[in-house]
Amino acid sequence: MRTKIVAGNWKMNKMVQQGVSFLQDCQQSLMANPLHSNVQLIICPPLLHLDAMTKVKDGHIKLGAQNCAAYEQGAYTGEVSAQMLQDIGVDYVIIGHSERRQYFMESSDQILEKIHQALAHKLRVILCCGEPLEVREASTQESFVQKQLEQTLGKLTADEMKHIIIAYEPIWAIGTGKTASPEQAQQMHAFIRNFLIHQFSEAVAHQTSILYGGSCKPSNAVLLFSQTDIDGGLIGGASLQLEDFMAIARACEQVLEENQTY
Ligand code: PEP
Repeated sequence: MRTKIVAGNWKMNKMVQQGVSFLQDCQQSLMANPLHSNVQLIICPPLLHLDAMTKVKDGHIKLGAQNCAAYEQGAYTGEVSAQMLQDIGVDYVIIGHSERRQYFMESSDQILEKIHQALAHKLRVILCCGEPLEVREASTQESFVQKQLEQTLGKLTADEMKHIIIAYEPIWAIGTGKTASPEQAQQMHAFIRNFLIHQFSEAVAHQTSILYGGSCKPSNAVLLFSQTDIDGGLIGGASLQLEDFMAIARACEQVLEENQTY
């Protein structure tokens, strides 16, 4: 069975101590009421928080970075390498988030290099893809996302895909309060899974978790996660409040348990 994942992307929010306290509270709540073993919770705080947070993390939650360098090491002022992340005990890294593509001009080539760096240092990658509003309005979102995937995942091997999670995040739904409808999201997730079948194999498509991101919150999580090809969520704003983040995690668990009953 594919792992169900709820990953919080804190972006540039919270001070270090707030991050540590959030993680401790989250772990306490999970200790009292453990989550289904097939639901993985991940928190991706700002880079600066990761060292302190890895020191208090227990087995309940994994930690991820929001970015890593496209280079191994050397004269790259301001960058943090995948090896440094691995060294302090980080497990995941988000690569290719639309905010990085848009505000920091990250190209597909750079994203691919970052993926290579992450995989070389045993980090699991959450690769983001998704179309802007004008593309959705022109109904060309599938070819847009296909190109993003061809330029990145298309250069990987089936074996490397074991360490990749895909997050479909329509840009028009990120931080806007406007969520893709469950049908719109499912349609794109099915398209992405189909891409994986053609690019790699049925086995790769079956094993790869595909998350939805874009104004996912407690009130819409169950409906989104109930879709056949949605394996959880990448959560921005709603991951900043412990109660909301946990409610989304429980929504993921609820859907998994309901599906197991039938
Ligand atoms: C994100 O930026 O990854 C995201 C999904 O943000 P939000 O949930 O706030 O839309």
